[in-house]
Amino acid sequence: MTAHGNLFIVSAPSGAGKSSLISALLENQPADMQVSVSHTTRQPRQGEVDAQHYHFVTPDTFKSLIKEKAFFEWAEVFGNFYGTSRIVIEKTLSQGIDVFLDIDWQGAQQVKKIMPEAIGVFILPPSKAELERRLTGRGQDSTKVINSRMAQAVSEMSHYHEYDYVIINDNFITAQQDLLAIIHSQRLTATSQIHAHDGMLKDLLAE
Ligand code: 5GP
Repeated sequence: MTAHGNLFIVSAPSGAGKSSLISALLENQPADMQVSVSHTTRQPRQGEVDAQHYHFVTPDTFKSLIKEKAFFEWAEVFGNFYGTSRIVIEKTLSQGIDVFLDIDWQGAQQVKKIMPEAIGVFILPPSKAELERRLTGRGQDSTKVINSRMAQAVSEMSHYHEYDYVIINDNFITAQQDLLAIIHSQRLTATSQIHAHDGMLKDLLAE
């Protein structure tokens, strides 16, 4: 049996703390997990680096990539296009590395159809007031953008029940522990253990 990493889908409304949770998870660059870098037609925000935060591409390039079936999933979010590279996901998983997709509910639905064993995690803020405070506190977007994102947040949050796990990010440390617990328990499922310890299991069961 070949190595096979777990695919985790992480979704949340903007401001729920998803990016910080994923960054904290990968801070020490563990060799057994990677976050997928999406392609997007959105303009880079201040401090965002091409190929690190996103692959920033033109709408024409994005359309060509759709035609070439280069995307594992893609969706239009807030008027911009976002997509996950198929080849990178397949290659990384086949190396036994867990992959994290920071994608929206539309992408999550597509991934679940292609790969039902993918694990969906939805991150919620503790309240609407706190979500608004976090969105305003970020200070990168205009009030118009914040208001529109608040409205979009409600629509995004209405999909939380389509996911396998829900984390309420009230306390960051607790939310981090919750995410780690999900990853850890997934790695202990019989299917994951068979992939991870194929040789050892065969050896144990040999007559
Ligand atoms: P932002 O522009 O704030 O970085 O992301 C906006 C939304 O697009 C977030 O909910 C994020 O999870 C989602 N997103 C980012 N990359 C992808 C992707 O490759 N596919 C899909 N479906 N959504 C994505």
